[in-house]
Amino acid sequence: MKIPTKGIDIVLKISERCNLACTYCYFFFQEMDTFKENTAVIKMKTIEQLVVFINKGYEELGIQSINIGLHGGEPLLIKKEHFSNICSTLRQKTSPEVHVNLMCQTNGTLVDSEWISIFEEHQVNVGVSIDGPKHINDKYRIDHNGKGSYDQTVRGIKLLQQAQKLKRIPSTGSLCVANVKYNGKELVKHIHEDIEIDDFDLLFPREGHDSDIKDQQTEWKAYYKDIIDYWLSKKDNSNLRISSLDKIFNALISEASAEVLDEQKSMQHNIINISSEGQVGIDDNILSLDANLLDKSRNIFNTSMKDFISSPIWQDLIKAVDTKPKGCDGCEWYRTCRSGALFNRYQKGNGFDNKTVFCETMDYIHISISEKLVQHGLKVSEIAKILDTPPKFLAKDGINNNAIA
Ligand code: SF4
Repeated sequence: MKIPTKGIDIVLKISERCNLACTYCYFFFQEMDTFKENTAVIKMKTIEQLVVFINKGYEELGIQSINIGLHGGEPLLIKKEHFSNICSTLRQKTSPEVHVNLMCQTNGTLVDSEWISIFEEHQVNVGVSIDGPKHINDKYRIDHNGKGSYDQTVRGIKLLQQAQKLKRIPSTGSLCVANVKYNGKELVKHIHEDIEIDDFDLLFPREGHDSDIKDQQTEWKAYYKDIIDYWLSKKDNSNLRISSLDKIFNALISEASAEVLDEQKSMQHNIINISSEGQVGIDDNILSLDANLLDKSRNIFNTSMKDFISSPIWQDLIKAVDTKPKGCDGCEWYRTCRSGALFNRYQKGNGFDNKTVFCETMDYIHISISEKLVQHGLKVSEIAKILDTPPKFLAKDGINNNAIA
């Protein structure tokens, strides 16, 4: 079995407030309620402690690379000087043996030329959340007075795109949350052709088996049909890349890409959420489904990275990634689906021992892509050979090894 890269993502809540109140926001409107008690803006002493946490993680676990996502709430609500100091501290004080990648996920509404200069100075990759054309985006991504955010967000994206073209900042990306109430093609076409974003991702909503979303799969398949038809029609004549779909597409074509996906899937749980108070928890996409998954007493001042990834909740995630739930037995797509995202598998009381609530849609996506590849001359036997090969990477072979040694 191959050993996954010893990399980890940290989602750092530098601001626990937001200038928007998106109706579906998992941070404010699902089960997590830490923002009610936590400091609005992270303090420098917490950043200094984070450096200790990371450096000890390198010493004890051999962490090689770390993606630090500067998140909120809305991260650009904090003072620019404070943001800049946070970046400098993380870059300068983290052990030189650890590759640090700084990222910032923003709603884009506050981006201005000064922010661009800060992103440039610290080489911050910026991701912007947008949900499509104005009439879709502004139904959900609204401010506290109910006013839509589309115009301000697109203005921010344009500034970022301009800076990226001039090679001032490393990259800009976009994240959209899929919404079955609207036309999928309209969303993707708008992002690609009107806003001119070539590379973005479309996320399934953060819902598990405690919601009724698994009963709506007929609608979800129709939604994805429109998206897949458009995306595939652009394959030969544009740079359009919808990350989650392209990963499956590439994996079905080449064993090397399938192994890249195997590794990414084996590391899908490697996300540590750190609140503005320094509380440490698992991926907050999962935390938002069940408040009981967060031990509020555990923080980076009293817990090392090694302690945290030895904890029962982290071990549960490793088991979930590596264990095929019964519902996936015999499924030909297991290697490239791997039962779906952990948050779409979760159920209170039953944990992760379920296939994704989007199973039918995942099946549909795989069938659609495979059929297209076969129409273009790829042999069914070549696809089957890749799919019949067991995943080359397992979560238990990753950084956990060192934790329990
Ligand atoms: S498509 Fe469904 S059955 Fe197949 S691996 Fe994914 S979740 Fe499991």
